[in-house]
Formats: sequence, structure tokens, C-alpha cells
Amino acid sequence: MRDIPGAWRRTAVGAGLVAADGSIRPTIFAEMSALAARTGAINLGQGFPDEDGPAAVLEVAREAIAGGANQYPPGRGIPDLLGAIAEHQERFYGLHVDPDRDVLVTAGATEALAAALLALLEDADDEVVVFEPYYDSYAAVAALAGARLVPVRLRWPDFQPDLDELRAAVSDRTRIILVNDPHNPTGAVFSPEVRAEVVRLAERHDAVIVTDEVYEHLVFDEPHVPIATLPGAWERTLTISSGGKTFSTTGWKIGWACGPAPLVDAVLAVKQFLTYVNGSPFQPAIATGLRLGDDFFRGIAQTLRTKRDLLGAGLRAAGLVVSTPAGSYFTVADAAALGATDAAEFCRALPERAGVVAIPLTAFTTPAHRDDYRSLVRFAACKRVDVLEEAASRLAHWA
Ligand code: PMP
Ligand code: GLN
Repeated sequence: MRDIPGAWRRTAVGAGLVAADGSIRPTIFAEMSALAARTGAINLGQGFPDEDGPAAVLEVAREAIAGGANQYPPGRGIPDLLGAIAEHQERFYGLHVDPDRDVLVTAGATEALAAALLALLEDADDEVVVFEPYYDSYAAVAALAGARLVPVRLRWPDFQPDLDELRAAVSDRTRIILVNDPHNPTGAVFSPEVRAEVVRLAERHDAVIVTDEVYEHLVFDEPHVPIATLPGAWERTLTISSGGKTFSTTGWKIGWACGPAPLVDAVLAVKQFLTYVNGSPFQPAIATGLRLGDDFFRGIAQTLRTKRDLLGAGLRAAGLVVSTPAGSYFTVADAAALGATDAAEFCRALPERAGVVAIPLTAFTTPAHRDDYRSLVRFAACKRVDVLEEAASRLAHWA
């Protein structure tokens, strides 16, 4: 991808996507999945499941296509899904959400994040505080919105932010504090102190809190706590999630944003010109998923916990030091003991050496902070048990 003009070039530079020769690199996920396909290595890089989600959910989508749900749905989303999202927020978190005013269906969490940042950021002095390492689209979209990203580092091995560093990052220039909890790529779940401090700082500096909670049902210890449930948080918080991880339907791209009507309206104003609408037959299917019984939601967390443990044991046996995640698809391991001094180089060599693909944590950081993460590697646990066992055995054999 060369010679991309205009706002996208600025975005690509801002997001560190421009290579030394001036070309624009594909995302790290595309690069690593292509590497896995080319080498036949096991793909523990890109976070997508290799098994289908609940049959009942898949069946509703099939029926919806057969039944003619194939044209544009309403702009905010179909009433059935808006209602299911509102019920879900009440059922799991006790949040009272008006399905007609406080909810918007989007093309995945990615679009909700993009539309939120484009809607809420006004000029080049606006700052977005993010926790680093961060999901790759955050930097790209902040740059597209013309705003400045202010990273607060999450440090090995527990990846909780230092509260003083957080306080120093937030100021009256902060327009958005962007929180991803449970966190990709580290698997961290933020402590109650961190969440409370985010709300306190947002109130003090009149910032909006945008939360990315796509892993809300994939937590291994305590139940998930949305920041929007904290005192004083609701009126300044936009909560974003998606059906992709919960129902193993990452290709469907059904996401949503919930929050006070003025914030949701601002997101809708931008969203209507990004995709307008999406996924008519998938919307009723995700509505069905959100209404599944507690045993389903308990089951997916338990299954992933078992996979996390299997992956962690394999990585330890291979000589890596592991940070045990409290949630998400991911486990971060330190490969320094195996001689890694450059995680990107280590990950490029891993398919040949060990038959496994993983992602360097440096792909989720600003260039200035790469050194802090240079021997850290992210492995995805959202794969079949036999695939994880094979990956563990290859890693152990190689080490
Ligand atoms: N946020 C985070 C933290 C993610 O890991 C992902 C990846 N799947 C997304 C957003 C994107 O979600 P979606 O596929 O619903 O756009
Ligand atoms: N969320 C997934 C990950 O972090 C992949 C998303 C993507 O490929 N854009 O691996």
C-alpha cells in the first residue's frame, strides 16, 4: 500500500503504520495471519476462535436470511437487538438503559470506537488518554480525528497502571479517557482503584470515558464491572461492546454503544456516514445470544479459563515467563530468557523455529515506548484444545 493521500497518510504516520520505505504496512494481525498461512504454523497471533459459537445463535441468522432480513435495518439497529442490549445491561450490571435512546448498534466495536472518537474530538489540542499497550485501531482513529494520543503505560507483570502516571496524563486538554477492560493485549482486568480513579479524573477534568468491553464475558475471577456502573460515571461514559468474542462470531461485526442519549446521538451522527447500517440477519441472532441463559455465559468463561491454563503451562514449559491474565483471549509471556531482545524479530522467526505464530507487544505501543515491551509476546488462547496442546508441544520441543 503506497502513496495513500490526505488524511489517511497523516493517520498512518500518527499510528506508526508507515514503514521506512514510505509504504503503509498492513495491520499486525493481517501480517501475522499471512505468516501463519505461508508457513503452516499454528496461528496463536490474531485473536479469533477456531470453533463455532452457540448453534441457536447461528440458526437465527440462517433463518433470518431465509426469511428475507436482507435489506437495510433501521439506523440505530433493529428494535429486538436494541431491547436485548438494554436487557443485557440490566441483567448483568443493573444498568437501566433506554433501548430507544441510549443504545446504538454499530459495525463491530471497531466502528463504535471510530465513530465515538470522530464525534467527540474537536481539534488538534484535544487529547485521548489510552492505556498502553493498546488495541491498534485506537492510535489510527485518534490520528484520523486529528487528536493527540497520551499513553499511560501498563507494566509487566500485572499490567495495572501506576495511579500517579495516570493522574499526570489527564488534564483539561483530555477530551476522552479510553479504557479497555478486560484488556487486549495484556489480559489485565483493572482494579477497583484504577476504575475509581478514571472516574474521578474524568469528573475533575470534564472528560468523556469511552470504554471498550468486548471481553466483558471472558473474565476468570471476579464478575466484570463496567465503569458506567460507578457513582457519577453513567452521564459521562460511553460503553462499547460487541457480539464477536462472546458468541465466537468475530466475522459478523455486530457491536454497540450504550450511554446517555446525547453521547449516543453524537456517535450516531458520525456512524450514519461510515457504514449507515450493517448486518440485518446477524442482528436478531446476536439478540438471541444476549438472551441465552446464565449457564452459557458461565460456560464460555470456564472454557477459556481452561485454555488459558493449558497455554500458560505450555509457555512455561518452553522456558517463557508468563503473566497470568484475568480475562480476554490473550496471555503475555516474556521471552527474554530465550534470548529475545526484539519481540518483533522473535515473532517473525517463531514460525520457522517453533511452528507457532504470536504477536509482539511492541505492535501495540508508541515507538517511543517500544523498549519497555521489547521481549514481550502475546499468545491467543481462543483456539481448540488440541490446537493449543500441539502448540505447547511444539514450543516445548523447540526450547
Ligand atoms: N477492541 C478490542 C480490545 C479488541 O480486541 C477487538 C478485536 N476483536 C475489537 C475492539 C474489535 O471488535 P469488533 O470485531 O467487534 O469490531
Ligand atoms: N481483536 C483481534 C486481536 O487482537 C483481531 C482483530 C483484527 O484482526 N483487527 O487479535
